[in-house]
Amino acid sequence: MSVPRSADVLVIGAGVIGCAIARDLEATGRSVVVVDRGAIGGEASSAAAGVLAVASGDDDGARLALRRAGSALVPALVAALQDETGIDVGFRCCGILALAWTDDEVAAQAARVARRRTQGLAAEAIAGEHLCELEPAASPSARGGAFLESLGQIDVLAVNRPEADALVPALVAKFGESGPALTLDAGEQPPPLLARGLFGGGYEMSVPAFLCALRRLGTRYVMLTDGRGGAFVCADGSVIYCPVIETTVAGTAGAGDAIASTFAAFVALGRPIDVALKAATLNAASVVAYIDTQSGLLRRDALEGRLAASSELRVRKWNL
Ligand SMILES: Cc1cc2nc3c(=O)[nH]c(=O)nc-3n(C[C@H](O)[C@H](O)[C@H](O)COP(=O)(O)OP(=O)(O)OC[C@H]3O[C@@H](n4cnc5c(N)ncnc54)[C@H](O)[C@@H]3O)c2cc1C
Repeated sequence: MSVPRSADVLVIGAGVIGCAIARDLEATGRSVVVVDRGAIGGEASSAAAGVLAVASGDDDGARLALRRAGSALVPALVAALQDETGIDVGFRCCGILALAWTDDEVAAQAARVARRRTQGLAAEAIAGEHLCELEPAASPSARGGAFLESLGQIDVLAVNRPEADALVPALVAKFGESGPALTLDAGEQPPPLLARGLFGGGYEMSVPAFLCALRRLGTRYVMLTDGRGGAFVCADGSVIYCPVIETTVAGTAGAGDAIASTFAAFVALGRPIDVALKAATLNAASVVAYIDTQSGLLRRDALEGRLAASSELRVRKWNL
């Protein structure tokens, strides 16, 4: 592609901000060139969850007014972009749910609701038992069992250690604390989380008891990740563990997404569970070698190459 030698405006950085500026400038009749050192929208803009919150934290006064004025422009921008590109970005005007677990958090949320109302925003406190009507996947620690009831419709569930700890009380209430044990060979070091177990609300569960409880609720593949402590998968009558690959960690952002999504993708491709877990571990290791969430993310062909070259990456399997 040839880049014009001159333009009225040069925009450096083709994220959502640079592209939006360029689009608006071009509409005023100026010639604009946008350059980027990488892919268009390849940095923070590709990672954004797509949430456009009108009010956030303690924003008030001028900042809140600016956010509201900005938000008011979004529907027209979305409509214009759809006209220009034919792409439906799925924009929906809806609220956000902020969950509270402790009495202090409930009190803080109540104060926030009151404050938002004085700011002229619609805000409402919702009792825990009604939360599931709005969000069936909300944490059971926040409002009871609807999350657990939805697990029968989920093929692959990935939780990290804090999330697993938070699920312990609800699972113990359903299944009790006990479960199968994973037998170690003589002299074998247990993975850190297997030695630690899971804790929440004064209850304790072993890793295999936790994994089996979630499987009993209908989830086909349960993945439990423990950061540097590696990852477990429970499926098809076995528990498989894969340690992390030692690497220089530049940033852990995106590692959880990489391991869960790679595992799910490989399972969807029909690959064996141990191979899917290895591929997931390799991709997470690649992601943490970079500060951002995208640069290290491996595509399938690169992952297949790393899998073939990683004979030293061994998983441990226990039959239940
Ligand atoms: C995980 C995550 C989730 C997020 N979720 C949300 C959300 O739900 N809602 C929300 O509103 N915001 C969210 N954000 C924030 C949002 O993504 C950013 O505020 C927004 O994308 C910033 O856009 P940008 O164009 O300024 O930056 P970027 O998208 O990072 O674009 C900057 C561009 O500049 C280029 N660049 C930098 N230096 C140079 C150079 N020297 N030469 C050439 N090019 C250069 C980079 O390659 C990059 O493409 C999230 C961010 C992250 C990381």
